[in-house]
Amino acid sequence: MEPTEEKSAPRDFVRSRVAEDVEQGKNDGVVVTRFPPEPSGYLHIGHAKAISVNFQIAEEFGGRCNLRFDDTNPAKEEEEYVESIQEDIRWLGYDWGDNLFYASDYFEQLYQYALQLIEQGDAYVDDQNAEEMAKGRGTATTPGTNSPFRDRPAAENRDLFERMRAGEFEDGSRVLRARIDMASPNLNLRDPALYRVRKVPHDRTGEEWPIYPMYDWAHGQSDSIEGVTHSLCSLEFENHRPLYDWCLDRLGVFHPRQIEFARLNLSFGILSKRYMIQLVEEGLVDGWDDPRMLTIAGLRRRGYTPGSIRDFLRGIGVAKFNSTIEMVLLENALRAELNKTAPRVMGVLDPLKVVITNYPEGETEELEAVNNPEDESAGTRLLPFSREIYIERDDFRAEPPKKFWRLAPGNEVRLRYAYYITCTDFLTDPETGEVTEVHATYDPQTRGGDSPDGRKIKATMHWVSSAHAFKGEVRLYDHLFKHPNPMEFRKGGSFKNHLNPESKTVLSDAMLEPSLASASVGDTFQFERLGYFCVDRVDSKPGAPIFNRSVALRDSWAKIQKQSK
Ligand code: ATP
Ligand code: MG
Repeated sequence: MEPTEEKSAPRDFVRSRVAEDVEQGKNDGVVVTRFPPEPSGYLHIGHAKAISVNFQIAEEFGGRCNLRFDDTNPAKEEEEYVESIQEDIRWLGYDWGDNLFYASDYFEQLYQYALQLIEQGDAYVDDQNAEEMAKGRGTATTPGTNSPFRDRPAAENRDLFERMRAGEFEDGSRVLRARIDMASPNLNLRDPALYRVRKVPHDRTGEEWPIYPMYDWAHGQSDSIEGVTHSLCSLEFENHRPLYDWCLDRLGVFHPRQIEFARLNLSFGILSKRYMIQLVEEGLVDGWDDPRMLTIAGLRRRGYTPGSIRDFLRGIGVAKFNSTIEMVLLENALRAELNKTAPRVMGVLDPLKVVITNYPEGETEELEAVNNPEDESAGTRLLPFSREIYIERDDFRAEPPKKFWRLAPGNEVRLRYAYYITCTDFLTDPETGEVTEVHATYDPQTRGGDSPDGRKIKATMHWVSSAHAFKGEVRLYDHLFKHPNPMEFRKGGSFKNHLNPESKTVLSDAMLEPSLASASVGDTFQFERLGYFCVDRVDSKPGAPIFNRSVALRDSWAKIQKQSK
């Protein structure tokens, strides 16, 4: 089947290499990939890149993609993560079918492989403690030194390893190491540990194993066991590849081809579970699904759609070299989609009352409004209009600066879909001086927002009839970090110093057009002039939706950054 336009991605270097293998009939032309998350946190947008690459390439070449949990580290794993990871991959639109696996399913096989290496003289039990081993490892510029236990006879190694497995030794007392080369310029080849003693129960294997395979040992062999033809992974695994190659060759088992591609980095973002978990555990965000988090769960709650995330990923492509992608590209992908699909509504976030003094008291009329200028089939709706309305506080100035075209004494503005109004007066709080109410007159000739004499109006404003408004909560979000590279900090500092204190604003008195009272989870709107908003999937109640701003209409950071340069 030809990939559809929506699904197909440009031919990048990864796809070219896979295609090469298929054309040459390697693995009988079969393509098997996998996404191998460690269940130690929620997935983030960086993982979404790896997910897309693996699932899409499998699909494009008529193959399959496995989901395998790399659950080799018992202390860090949690069932909550296993579930959220599956939910997030499905939500992104990918399906592993029956191909759900766990590295822990291979613990016995991996143990047998280790015994094979021992028999071949390719692995040994080391009695050194962690400190001694670290010392013997050498540095990037000096070679390591051989362990005094390196030349143990195979029989002794076997005996000790079997006793490790039987639980005879305490945590940290012994490890099994590959016997490769302590002088290798690649530190990963300096007799890396394959197994360590850890008497910690495992989510899936319980107390069965007092030893656990190291990630590098489990990873390559798991790919081989599953018949993964192409191990697609991020660049940091490039210098682990020689180790994977060594293990597979010594074992003489099926050898996947590993291809590394650049990790996704986003400006203003941190894409690393290790750091994200700190934000969650220290309460600096409202959980993994906080709408400011770049987790899939956070983006979903923020109002991102699977389509917009896939569009974004397709746009940035797959490259061989690391770079940082501008956050605005992610936001633009969402804007582009929602511009086409989101119904337009009006909502006033920071309300200021306007009394239209020449409009009859107690009267209401209904005015027709277009639901989506980008989509005629979305039709129109009726908006109630009356003598008292709310406008955005920021749309009024008692003393307007030059070129302020919005409402100010003597200024005439257009109320979207309604009338032209002219400000005649305003009231202030005698104590604070704050404007409490604005008075205006309307021109009945301008119904619908056009004037028969064609006079020019510079400002069109959104509004809501005060008698009909639905009072609701709206949450505005901004970048979680105020620094484009949160990991850039002075010695002794922390990425947490770059947190943006204004990243979340809760407005509890927003006045929204009445139809929004019945909005429910899954609904997304463009609030005219303000941005795109979705119904918060966690805190909303039926009849009391809470709105999250997914993204403003335009990028405000470009301007800020330019000014600060
Ligand atoms: P973290 O540093 O956030 O903990 P990780 O790489 O340790 O990430 P894993 O669960 O091991 O997390 O990741 C599963 C897969 O996702 C790996 O194959 C890894 O290459 C890939 N991956 C992780 N982060 C990114 C990223 N930013 N861009 C592309 N791929 C990524
Ligand atoms: Mg990892």
